[in-house]
Amino acid sequence: MTEDAERQARLAWFEQTCSNLHERLSPLTEGKPASYIPELATVDPDRFAIAAVTTDGEHIQVGDHGDAFTIQSISKLLLYGLALETHGREHVLERVGVAPTGDSFNAIVLDDEMNRAPNPMVNAGAIAVTDLVVGDGLDERVEEVRSMYERYLGRRPEIDRAVWESERATGNRNRAIAYLMLSRGIIRDRVEETLDLYFAQCSVLVTADDLATIGATIANHGVHPETGEQVVRSEVTRDLLTVALTCGMYDYAGEWAFSVGIPAKSGVGGGIVGILPGVGGLAVFSPRLDGHGNSVRGLRVFEELSQEFEMHLFHPDRPWRRAD
Ligand code: GLN
Repeated sequence: MTEDAERQARLAWFEQTCSNLHERLSPLTEGKPASYIPELATVDPDRFAIAAVTTDGEHIQVGDHGDAFTIQSISKLLLYGLALETHGREHVLERVGVAPTGDSFNAIVLDDEMNRAPNPMVNAGAIAVTDLVVGDGLDERVEEVRSMYERYLGRRPEIDRAVWESERATGNRNRAIAYLMLSRGIIRDRVEETLDLYFAQCSVLVTADDLATIGATIANHGVHPETGEQVVRSEVTRDLLTVALTCGMYDYAGEWAFSVGIPAKSGVGGGIVGILPGVGGLAVFSPRLDGHGNSVRGLRVFEELSQEFEMHLFHPDRPWRRAD
């Protein structure tokens, strides 16, 4: 078989495995969609998609891969990249560390010793990172974030206004975190505007296929596999992959690194994106969540695919890795 035929055969095998998994896990109805943001509870809990995009732009799509949902915490990864690009590591590290917390994503916890948020993948860190988005006033800053998304998605994203409004109306815990950070001098005194921006970036609508494309872009040294655009600098992708692996799944990050071993980020909208450096992005969407705020079916899909295709980053053979 030629190298290309072999690749196609492997992709077909992968697609078939995803389809089988989708069928087998569809009856799994454990967990519940997030309801602390009231609008998120209105989602159809049965929706289920698996998507993958390779660094050379091949798409694999199973189930409801075209259905839109809000990106939620997966935005934290992209915003962290934007902050690193705009301000550099040192400036960002003064405000947000890189230590996994072992606490829930919305814990009201700061790194007291360093006077900064613990890491950018939990709400405190993400709000501190959002504070760093440049622009004069909310509209300009929303535009800055939107155009970042546009580079990742290859199209202008929509914001789910109902979810945005719902978060704004009920996000008092995030407000508490933000005002605590203001009182410690970690963020600037425009808290309501920054929170509004944070809620907006969480309310951006994506599909599983979009998430897989985002993953493939980060996996591809920051170059979008289809548009060819350098979306985020290559050296920044290293930092994104590191915090995704250590903190991306909140207080489940350790177990995830052990059993799945793929840098990943989840969101309470039900999405999870995994990034296989040099190979591609893998995404699952299923809104029923476990107690950590991670998609129940999503975890199962990643666990099983990682096993079957030996995707763990530290797997001795890593057969999917191309020689580069
Ligand atoms: N917008 C959500 C919040 O702030 C994001 C949380 C998440 O996806 N884990 O609570």
